[in-house]
Amino acid sequence: MNDWSSIQGHEQIKNDLRQLLAEKRLPHALLFTGIEGIGKNLTAKVLAKVLLCSGEEKPCNICPSCRAFDAKNHPDFYYLEPEGKANNIKIEQIRQMQSQIALSPYLADKRVVIINDAETMNEAAENSLLKTLEEPTGDVVFILVTANKDLLLPTILSRCMKLYFAPLSEDEIKIILKSKYAVNEDKATVIAKLSGGSMKRAISFLDDDNFNLCQNAMDFLSKDLNAKDIWQISDEFSAMDKAKIKQWADFLQMIIRDLLLLQAGADDNLLYNRDKKDVLDKLIVNFSLNRLFNCQNLIENLVKRLSSNADLKLMMQDFMLSWREQK
Ligand SMILES: [Zn+2]
Repeated sequence: MNDWSSIQGHEQIKNDLRQLLAEKRLPHALLFTGIEGIGKNLTAKVLAKVLLCSGEEKPCNICPSCRAFDAKNHPDFYYLEPEGKANNIKIEQIRQMQSQIALSPYLADKRVVIINDAETMNEAAENSLLKTLEEPTGDVVFILVTANKDLLLPTILSRCMKLYFAPLSEDEIKIILKSKYAVNEDKATVIAKLSGGSMKRAISFLDDDNFNLCQNAMDFLSKDLNAKDIWQISDEFSAMDKAKIKQWADFLQMIIRDLLLLQAGADDNLLYNRDKKDVLDKLIVNFSLNRLFNCQNLIENLVKRLSSNADLKLMMQDFMLSWREQK
């Protein structure tokens, strides 16, 4: 059931939204930004339900509007998200929504449109949406949700009230892991640390494969690569899913970030891999600041190339060979 209490953390944002609603000052276009997997989309849905509810305490969960919303068939609610092979939001989706919101609402006294992963709108779609944002017809509230607001047109951004969702705290992640996913205290502590404040990332660690992948990244950094290793590891990777390799690259980035923090003399509490402090302490000897920055660049490059059609095996060989050259 979507209501305010289902949103973990983000107290300030919840309060701000409730206040804007109480004073009837909620703007007709909002933009929720912040990293992936921290509750932006859930908050957008709760707000939509509240806006459509006809009960006293909103959301009341019992009025026809709330029931239609929970049954995912509210006629005045539109949820747009990336579709198709290109995994983007197309102008046809925007046009279809526009023709529907031009009619009067059926059940509520307004309509609500959520555009999730709004940064995936292509330019035509963005320009088409912009017209609606500039000249809204009828009572419509738009909620755009994105983890990459800089990819949106400045003209869209300037039309929206922006709400920034901060990463969740480790305690908040721990509470969700324990209460919703029945994770024990010890494992929850480790995962919360690795999550970087993203619930989505935390959940990915419940998969043992990912846990092993993280270990694999740590082992890779400890390795003195010889030619045989390079061919062998490249072979193994070329048989893997690109999403897994991306995840592995993310883990490498997190370890490099930890090493940079250690070089800077930062507090252990700031480390992602605090539970592997002993391994990090051994690694740091072999990683000068310069090497760490170079490695960071190599990983970023690898991630970029992963979204191209380049040959995976060659890509990994290139990466490992350049990696070995970094001293
Ligand atoms: Zn209701």
